[in-house]
Amino acid sequence: MRRGSPTADGLSPPRSTSHPATFYPQDLAASLRSSRGPHKVSITHMSTNMIAVHLPDGSIREVPSGTTPLDIANSISPRLAAASVVARVTPLGGTTTQSDGKASTGEDSGEASMYAAEDAAAPRLVDLSAPLSVSVKLELLKENDPDALKVLRHSAAHVLATAVLELFPETKLGHGPATDSGFFYDFYREKPFTPEDLAAIETKMAAVVARNDPFIHEFAPRDKSLEGFERDGDFMKTHFVTKFTEPGAEVSFYRNGNFVDFCRGPHVPSTGRVKAFKVGPLAGAYWLGDEKNPQLQRVYGTAFFSQKDLDAHFARLEEAARRDHRVLGKQLDLFSIQELAGAGLIFWHPRGAIIRKIMEDWMRDECLRRGYLLVYTPHVMRRELWKVSGHEGFYSGNMYTPMELDDAEYRLKPMNCPGHILIYKNSPKSYRDLPQRYAELGNVYRYERSGTMHGLLRVRGFTQDDAHIFCTPQQIESEVAACIDFAEAVLKTFGFKEYKVELSTWDPSDRAHYAGSNENWDLAIRSLDNVLKSRGIPYKTIPGEAAFYGPKIDVKLVDVLGRLWQLSTVQFDFNLPARFELEYVGEDGERHQPVMVHRALFGSVERFFGVLIEHYAGAFPLWLAPVQIGLVPISEKHVAYAAKVESALRAAGFRTESDLRNEKMNAKIRDFANQKTPYILVFGDKEEGAGAVSVRTRGKGDQGSMPLTDFIAKATSLVEMQSTEL
Ligand SMILES: [Zn+2]
Ligand SMILES: [Zn+2]
Repeated sequence: MRRGSPTADGLSPPRSTSHPATFYPQDLAASLRSSRGPHKVSITHMSTNMIAVHLPDGSIREVPSGTTPLDIANSISPRLAAASVVARVTPLGGTTTQSDGKASTGEDSGEASMYAAEDAAAPRLVDLSAPLSVSVKLELLKENDPDALKVLRHSAAHVLATAVLELFPETKLGHGPATDSGFFYDFYREKPFTPEDLAAIETKMAAVVARNDPFIHEFAPRDKSLEGFERDGDFMKTHFVTKFTEPGAEVSFYRNGNFVDFCRGPHVPSTGRVKAFKVGPLAGAYWLGDEKNPQLQRVYGTAFFSQKDLDAHFARLEEAARRDHRVLGKQLDLFSIQELAGAGLIFWHPRGAIIRKIMEDWMRDECLRRGYLLVYTPHVMRRELWKVSGHEGFYSGNMYTPMELDDAEYRLKPMNCPGHILIYKNSPKSYRDLPQRYAELGNVYRYERSGTMHGLLRVRGFTQDDAHIFCTPQQIESEVAACIDFAEAVLKTFGFKEYKVELSTWDPSDRAHYAGSNENWDLAIRSLDNVLKSRGIPYKTIPGEAAFYGPKIDVKLVDVLGRLWQLSTVQFDFNLPARFELEYVGEDGERHQPVMVHRALFGSVERFFGVLIEHYAGAFPLWLAPVQIGLVPISEKHVAYAAKVESALRAAGFRTESDLRNEKMNAKIRDFANQKTPYILVFGDKEEGAGAVSVRTRGKGDQGSMPLTDFIAKATSLVEMQSTEL
């Protein structure tokens, strides 16, 4: 029932990332410079120990300890060395933990994930110049690897900080991680950066890139580093070093030219690799997210390995902005959110409501065709019910507070399941009655924090196309297969060609966190597995991601821009049937507990509609378009013919609109085109005389004149096919 969030490719808010960065105190920088000899890295056992390096092709190289990934790349081919960006190593057998960080205290996961110690045995990224001291599995990552892109972007953050300090030396540095779509760096400076400053920073960055300084890993004693940071008023670096390094440790720094930053790495080999980048936008952020702290200036940016990729990225952003459902919702008068009524509550205007009706009619008809039974359940129910279902305990934070009536307290429903369960329980069931499939377009209300709402995608009230299937364990597999079929039909019908499937399973070693017997879990997971395998549907298994009450399948559709949207979900439940003591009488005459499946295919009608608007950029296919056909009489003389044409079209079931204003024909055509109307019919004396219409098709322009009856036949067949071509 979790509604996922879009993986939109915008400049998304920062997520967790690789690691940190720092400019450090002037004299410390100087001392490092003088103590030179680019100061070879830490764990070099300068001995003749040999280590084994396992390469992806299965070959093994015996090399002296201290050999770098770059040495290995060069020994294979100089071209490979030049093409490599960073290395991924997995220690084999013995471990050398080189943890210079404390465990996270958990209050700031983003920051902790940058600085805290890593699992020494896990694969990790290292500089091409990092000496290897134990036997490893080694992969050399080239520019096409997503991890290499993250390393590039984090390196670009160093380049940004270098440029900022060269231009504005009074600036204090925070941290500069890569994000999903680029990078940022937090700066403290009393004067806000102006757009001109950002342009100057970008120009200076190009100069830093042109210098092509290598990124050099250096180490300095912790107390000396801290002393310098404190003296220079580098309060953020002081915080990071104090929090994430141990007393007595050597602190890890990275240098490019004169710029040195507290950082765990890794980086690209030199600044010259940061070829294609763009700075902006600028945002405010409080230090450590606390508004009592100084306000920082967060400078965002993005970087790619080529200008072509950078251009494509901005073209995609522009296209996404053009398709924004909030903008199109207003422009096409589809829906609104009213301040007076409250955030996250959707008003469906006539043009949006008609699309919703078509979606809902399709869904209900399809449910009936597939053996579901339609039900309706109340919006508010007694608090007692939510105690039995467990929502009162586990889900209370997402529910609206109780309302006191004369007989009892009531709560708005956040889910439809308990209602469907009461219907099941209302009469005794035998194995012959199963499966029972109850479907409802159920309105639910969930509390979302203010400020987190987003158009139709994140709301406080929505309609789930919800169904609950009560079945025997033996029926699980065929029921799941039918749900997957149904989900595929939804996606295909509404014009989505691609989707991705995830199977979330349990973690059997964490038994206490899961309801239901081992046998049931095994059976359910095996059934889900079997269904996906037997249909040849590729999927990703995610262990430990199942809800406590059962495993689930999530279907994420891929829209026209390649963005993923979590919509359909099929979930098992061993918990609610037990809580409500559901039963059926088996063939053996004994009482058994049915298995319950929750499934939603649109997910929520609101969210699905939002995705549809963006997918089609508001140009809905004919069968969904709110106004399918716009009528344009050339002059007032043709108004009577317009009425005739309109009544013929309406009789054939079309949604039409006539523009009878005293306006120029071209203005009327333009207005219908702006509304993305699929067909515009124009007629004057000639058409009227012939019982014809002149047809303009969206995206194709003027198609010439044809008899009205022919047009109706053609358009009718497109609607009947639910064509997504027009
Ligand atoms: Zn770094
Ligand atoms: Zn449910």
